[in-house]
Parts: sequence; structure tokens; C-alpha cells
Amino acid sequence: MNAHEYRVGILGATGAVGQTFIRLLDGHPWFTVTAVAASEQSAGRPYREAANWLSGASIPEHVASLEVQRTEPEALDCDFVFSALSSSVAGEIEQAFAAAGAPVVSNAKNYRLHDHVPLLIPEVNPDHLALIDAQSWDSEGFIVTNPNCSTTGLICGLHPLMDAFEVEAVQVTMLQALSGAGYPGVPSLDAVGNVIPYIGGEEEKLSTEPRKILGTLDGEDVAPADLTLSAQCTRVPVRNGHLACASVRFQDDVDAEAVADTLRRFEAPPATRSLPSRPNPFVQVLEAPDAPQPQRHVKAGDGMTVSVGRIQDCPVNDVKFVLLSHNTVRGAAGGALLNAELLASEGYLKRTRADAAATPAAT
Ligand code: NAP
Repeated sequence: MNAHEYRVGILGATGAVGQTFIRLLDGHPWFTVTAVAASEQSAGRPYREAANWLSGASIPEHVASLEVQRTEPEALDCDFVFSALSSSVAGEIEQAFAAAGAPVVSNAKNYRLHDHVPLLIPEVNPDHLALIDAQSWDSEGFIVTNPNCSTTGLICGLHPLMDAFEVEAVQVTMLQALSGAGYPGVPSLDAVGNVIPYIGGEEEKLSTEPRKILGTLDGEDVAPADLTLSAQCTRVPVRNGHLACASVRFQDDVDAEAVADTLRRFEAPPATRSLPSRPNPFVQVLEAPDAPQPQRHVKAGDGMTVSVGRIQDCPVNDVKFVLLSHNTVRGAAGGALLNAELLASEGYLKRTRADAAATPAAT
């Protein structure tokens, strides 16, 4: 038996991100979906009827036949949960699961800036898992979050640079895909042939989340990174893939060649090397003058590799580049899956199938 064999529940399983979890978990070597949960409207129905399945591939058979449960801890038979809940309800429901003893691996924004909740990208800040020990939900449950989809991609590109150099300021314009708004998302008459220069709350997330992720663990807290970041976020008529046009000012003397070289040489921390969903490479540098493009490059590393191209010296800041990341994979379900794999390999997910057979499930 695999030492990391766990039964998984998905909260918000019927939504766009919930469905991506189910797709990515099909055949996963460590995790098996044993419970799905969503709102009152979906509860009690077989998953195949409750979900408006968006992927071209069919629903994995063992999930299609599961009955959708209410989002109540005692209703789910599993060792831990992924949360793909709407943020309008995630706060209360995730807290209830943590208080009932469940590890919660969340995509929602509600606890991202909580002092003791890791805002995790395994290749960037695996040490922030230690914050879990300071959480107190009156049980052994805990919450771990992943960043907003646009933050995730940008940080994957910035972290190797901040590791190597002193970054003074970052200016970024985001061109964000429609799938980032969930399903059905932006009305078609607003989206087609158009660019919308406003995404509610997005620029604020880009001004706060990076400072926590790139911050330094200091006892039971994170001291935020000293980083000036100015972001403009736009919605563009692209299905999947957030593109970031960024320029970076360094304190050191850094040029485009040094940035390309640093990104190419970056090695993810040893703690991530045995994780099944870890991409290799973490960041790929593309040489073609017209790369990266969402249509051509968003599926790099099964959606987990971030692509960077157009790396050039910048006459305003020091270096500019274009970065592409998959918003519903690296920026949502795939990122959370990697978080759960890190939790398992670092011993934070205690219950295995063997434990579960011996005693009733904690959730
Ligand atoms: P979505 O398609 O709207 O799905 C929301 C899910 O929440 C559905 O399963 C829905 O169930 C469930 N839900 C809604 N109200 C509920 C209630 N009162 N009780 C229990 N369940 C309820 O949203 P999404 O795009 O998948 O996003 C899910 C979360 O991930 C959000 O917090 C979002 O901000 C975050 N996120 C999304 C992306 C992205 O690229 N889309 C990226 C990063 C993070 P029913 O189907 O039964 O209504």
C-alpha cells in the first residue's frame, strides 16, 4: 500500500474549479475522490446529473455515480477536503470543516491573508507550512490556501528573480482569461471582441498576496516582503491562460540575459521533487519572438509549467518580459493539488486508508 493513500472530498465539486479537481485527480497515485459536495440545489443528486460537465473528456465513472452531499463535515467520508467553493460561502464552511478536524486545501480567497494560514506555492514558500502549527480551530484540522490565479503565475516568474537579485519594483498588466470568472462567467456580449479593463478585487489581490507569499517566516507569522508592485488587470476573450506583461526594476545591475539565465537555472526546493504533480521545468523560457501565447503554450507541463518569453532590456525599468500561466490548473486546482501533495509528503495528512479501516473517518 502506498504510504500516501488518502480519500479525498471536494467542496464545490460541481463548479468550474471543482470539475478541474476531478479531472486532475483521475488516476492520481496518492488521492482518490470518495466524496463530492455542493449547494442545496445539487445535494442528493448523482454527480453526473448535478454537474454541468465542461470538459471534453467524460466524468470519471467512480465520481459520476457519487451522490452529491451537503457541505457538512459529518456528511463526507474522506481524509481531507479540497475547497472550490464560491467565496460567498467558503469562509463559514471551510472553518466548520477545520473545526471538525479536517485538513482543508482551499482555492477560495477567504483565509488567504489570515495570519496563520499558509498562502502556498510549494516551489516558492514550502517553509510557510509551519504556520499550520499556530492555527487553532479547536481541533487538529487546518486550512491551507493557494493564491489568486493571476498572483500565482506572476510569483512563479518573480520568485527565482527575487532569490537571485534585489527587486525594487514590478509593474504588470494582466490579460486574464474568461475561465478565471468561473462558469458561465462574463456575459458573451461583453466578452466577444472586447477587452474589459476591470476585474473586481483583482488588483488589490495582486498588491497584497505577493507580499505574504514572498515574505519571511518569523516564528508564528510571516514578515511581508518589501516589494512595490503596481498591477492593472484586464479581461480578454481568451478561454484559458493569464498573460502578464511585466517590467521589473532591480537594485542590482541586471539585464535581460541575466534574467533569462536565472529563470533557466532555477531549481525547485528538494521538498517538492517527489511530488507527482510537480512540473519540470517550473518555468520554461521561450526564445521565439512571438511566444508565449495562450493557444500554443498554456498546456506546458500539463498546465503546471509557467512560460516566459520576450525577455528584453527595458528603457523605463530594467527588464521586461511576457509570462503565461494556466489559470484553472497552476492558478487553481493544480496548484491546490500540489499543495496537498506537499502536505502529504511532509506528514501533515495523518490519516491513510489503513488508519481509516481501523477507525471511523474523522470527517
Ligand atoms: P463556480 O463555478 O461558481 O463554482 C462554485 C461552487 O460552489 C459550485 O460547486 C457551487 O455549487 C458551490 N456553492 C455555491 N453556493 C454554495 C452554498 N451556499 N453551499 C455550498 N456550495 C455552494 O466557481 P469557480 O470558478 O469554480 O471558483 C471556485 C472558487 O475558486 C472561488 O472561490 C474562486 O474565487 C476560486 N478560484 C477560481 C479560479 C478560476 O480560474 N475560476 C482561480 C482561482 C481561484 P452548485 O453547483 O450546487 O451551485
